[in-house]
Amino acid sequence: MRPIIPDYLAEALGDVEADTSGETAGYIPELARAHPDFLGAAFVTVDGETYGAGDTDVEFTIQSISKPFVYALALSDRGFDAVLDKVGVEPSGEAFNEISLESGTGRPLNPMINAGAITAHSLTGAEDAIAADRVERVIHGLSAFAGRRLTVDESVYASERAHAHRNLAIAHMLRSHDILTTDAQATTDGYIRQCSVRVTTTDLAMMAATLANRGRNPLSGEQVVPEPVVRQVLSVMFSCGMYDAAGDWATQVGIPAKSGVAGGLIGALPGQVGIATFSPRLDAHGNSVRGVSLCERFSSDMGMHVMEVSAPARATVRSHHVVGVGPNALRILQLQGGIGFAGAEKVLRECVDAPFPESRVAFDLTRVHSLDDVARRMLLEVVRRLTLDGHEVFLVDPETIMPDPDPGDGGRVTVVTGADHAVVPPIAP
Ligand code: GLN
Repeated sequence: MRPIIPDYLAEALGDVEADTSGETAGYIPELARAHPDFLGAAFVTVDGETYGAGDTDVEFTIQSISKPFVYALALSDRGFDAVLDKVGVEPSGEAFNEISLESGTGRPLNPMINAGAITAHSLTGAEDAIAADRVERVIHGLSAFAGRRLTVDESVYASERAHAHRNLAIAHMLRSHDILTTDAQATTDGYIRQCSVRVTTTDLAMMAATLANRGRNPLSGEQVVPEPVVRQVLSVMFSCGMYDAAGDWATQVGIPAKSGVAGGLIGALPGQVGIATFSPRLDAHGNSVRGVSLCERFSSDMGMHVMEVSAPARATVRSHHVVGVGPNALRILQLQGGIGFAGAEKVLRECVDAPFPESRVAFDLTRVHSLDDVARRMLLEVVRRLTLDGHEVFLVDPETIMPDPDPGDGGRVTVVTGADHAVVPPIAP
């Protein structure tokens, strides 16, 4: 069977492809020259399954998407008090590069705007670390989130550094308030290096999945930062990650997110999935135009708004076995619990990975207590594709958890009731 999620992603990319509005970031010459037509999207589930469509392997610079991760590193290296002393958690409602600090204290309002991010960079590693050690700590930490060693794009670094007057002004202002206690020029250079780290869309989805998975990289298994740090970071991403568009984003998309001026965008859906998109043209807020459209669509298609109350997907497939032999053999997937996207994805994977030799397949929903809309559609699509692959499909659904199952074009399903699998009639000899 063809995998379903990449098909869905490819369809979503197709729908936004024609939108060529927006501009590449003009204030960093190397980014302004970037090829504007790239378009990619990737999902990584919290157990490390990767899905993608489009330009998912093209490298670009991480830019501001580094900010939540470096904030996480600062929190784990120096502790909450030391970091909160220097950087607030209030949405600023202003542009990312605004020269604004809290009156009185001189604290940057949050770590997602440049003032807060430059400060967070200065708070990584040991207190007595030199600038080069901090950069190494940051690159090493970002690499741990991605699960592979990342490198710096030296030409983007040089290009931004040559035009960094505004970030340098911010750093000097922070230094004058003693928020920054490190050298302003060296810290700005380190921050620009951090922004120039090269990633792919797949890397970003893996980094987001590490946040979604409570700080543990789903593939390497490394606990990159402690769990309480992740909750702090996701909260700040939710309220501040999209700058002066943060409120619109929080209500319409509702996924903790972060954008970067090279065109990347990530979303981390706690306990479920890391999402990333890449499309370099930006809107007036500095957020990727097509990335924003894609995330709006993902959120509404898949019920991903974090304020949507979802049931956990643990152990959705209770058992997966075959009863009977020969033409009477029946493959049974017994499902259980409340099933949402993540649970349905586990079912898809069981069906996509192995072609089944048995001609008859049954999904037993007897122990399922809820099935959300996306899970229903995903299961029906499995049914449809199994039918197209030549299987006869049964739904054991005594409580009508899935009313009126219609697998659509070319799909067919027979609903049977009763808790016993024997209700699926054997084929007459
Ligand atoms: N390096 C960029 C800057 O500091 C990052 C900005 C962004 O991605 N929004 O201006």
